[in-house]
Amino acid sequence: MPVYEYQCEKCKEVVEVLQKVSDDPLTKCEKCGGKVEKLFNSMNFHLYGPGFYSTDNKRKYLK
Ligand SMILES: [Zn+2]
Repeated sequence: MPVYEYQCEKCKEVVEVLQKVSDDPLTKCEKCGGKVEKLFNSMNFHLYGPGFYSTDNKRKYLK
């Protein structure tokens, strides 16, 4: 089961959540109720090569 990391935009708390791929992503911080955003975990970096996917995505957003 993959581990996802989320960071709260409000309190900057990083949480690790064990989720199935079919599970809904975490959207709320359990501590303060703020919005959380998904972080890349080390497992993804291994699968796709160091930073490859995130760099590619960023370039697309900048256009
Ligand atoms: Zn929070």
